[in-house]
Amino acid sequence: MSRVLAALAALAALFALPASAKAPKLTLFISVDALGSDLLLRNRPRLTGGLGQLLDRGAFYPYARYAYAETRTAPGHATLATGANPWRHGIVDNDVQDRTTGQRVQVYMDPAHPLLDGTTEPTSDTSPENLMAETLADRLRVSTQGRGKVVALSFKARAAIPLAGRLGQAWWFDGVEGKMVTSTWYAKAVPAWMQAFNARKLADEGFSKTWELLRPRAEYVGEDDRATEPDAYGMGRTFPHSLRNGLTAPGPQSYKAFAVSPRSHDLLVQAAKAALEGEGLGKDDVPDILAVSFSGTDEVFHAFGPYSWEIQDSLLRLDQAMGELIAAAERAAGGRANLLIALSADHGGAEIPEAWAQMGVPARRINSVEMSKTLAAELRTTFGVDVTVAMLDLDVYLGGKALESGQVDGAAVRRAAAAWLAKQPFSVMAVARDDLDTVPDTGGLVEPLRRGYYPQRSGDVLFMAKPFQVVTDYPRGSNHGVPYSYESQVPVVFAGRGVKPGLYPQEIDPVDVAPTLSALLEMGMPASAEGKPRAEALTGK
Ligand SMILES: [Zn+2]
Repeated sequence: MSRVLAALAALAALFALPASAKAPKLTLFISVDALGSDLLLRNRPRLTGGLGQLLDRGAFYPYARYAYAETRTAPGHATLATGANPWRHGIVDNDVQDRTTGQRVQVYMDPAHPLLDGTTEPTSDTSPENLMAETLADRLRVSTQGRGKVVALSFKARAAIPLAGRLGQAWWFDGVEGKMVTSTWYAKAVPAWMQAFNARKLADEGFSKTWELLRPRAEYVGEDDRATEPDAYGMGRTFPHSLRNGLTAPGPQSYKAFAVSPRSHDLLVQAAKAALEGEGLGKDDVPDILAVSFSGTDEVFHAFGPYSWEIQDSLLRLDQAMGELIAAAERAAGGRANLLIALSADHGGAEIPEAWAQMGVPARRINSVEMSKTLAAELRTTFGVDVTVAMLDLDVYLGGKALESGQVDGAAVRRAAAAWLAKQPFSVMAVARDDLDTVPDTGGLVEPLRRGYYPQRSGDVLFMAKPFQVVTDYPRGSNHGVPYSYESQVPVVFAGRGVKPGLYPQEIDPVDVAPTLSALLEMGMPASAEGKPRAEALTGK
């Protein structure tokens, strides 16, 4: 063989290698609301169903950590969807203060796009208009020139909307009607498959059932009956839990109990199966995305806490439900070889502070309404004018005529508020927005505040709570929204086509999720992504 022919043969052999494989036909993107790393790891030995198998056979990163301060549902899902932090995607919290009306509104509020088939609360989430960064779903739609499909499902609009982006379909549970809904942003009419799904009335079917323990009582850790647990939605503190919430027929109050119960997992799995079939997801070679965000775990967490029997049982039942979901996705894609799966969570969560305190942890409940009133009184004393104060997690919004008219020096008021907040026993530091870029970052807690700051939407003063301080409006239950490990650390799992399985204990940032999926889908990354593909977990074929 001549040297030229040999070189050509070598070149041909090189090109025969699968330098890039075909993208998976279907990507199943799963989010488990409030599934912090610690919660997952301490329950993992009992998980032998779909969730447990996913951890075993995938690339499992137990320690991803959000790098911004307010670990809430809306920013968490927006970050998973865009690969960016709130300073770029603009979704700083679930709720923000509307500066023109002084009203607290949901961050995806869009009066121009009401619910397609339901009654819209005027301040509620309905569209991605306020999402300022491109999502994975949008990139797929653009990259495939509209051929790849995306459907996102959740009990919460603030989870489904970023997962669907501007160009997919988002569906969420309407707690008034007890069915899955979308807004006029996403559809002009409810497709037949969703009409048929809603006609099954699964939320009504749950009404006559109770939530029983899945396993023998001896398998649950701790106590079922804890005095620190509230009687949420008439469910009582102990098993079995009624889902009637005092009603004689299904209605909005019983749907609240239903949303807490693991039956909410099953409803989403059934809706996902309807979407797979109805939209023909995974059927052709053009990649599609099915995103499912399970919200029931977060409802259980808020009501009963992350150490309760209720969360243990919710995870055991999610483990089963996820098995059914993954099997359905595999069938739709024509086998496991055509399927890519990603799993993560939007945040973790604190224990009920009173329960932590009983164990000797320096935990405390900080009532944000009380604190706002005290700060308003303090500012009135100092400046002699009325300043309105609204504390939404770590954001403090100041308003009122005296500030807006310039009667008082705004920066002076903000700095005085920051100085007062910094002195409080629950606080590490506080900073006026005027000083956010220049304040020294002693202890590294200012940078997370900066990454979570979006000027048009964030507060006038930001503060950082000490660890184990639970900031909430509610007198019972628990919350999340600070950057400490128990709230900022979440699992990330990739599994299926193109993924190198294994345990990856290095700490990563959830901003890497969307870029890694982009790489596996063989397309460019979402426009504003800050993360990087996790190259160590990719097979390259
Ligand atoms: Zn959440």
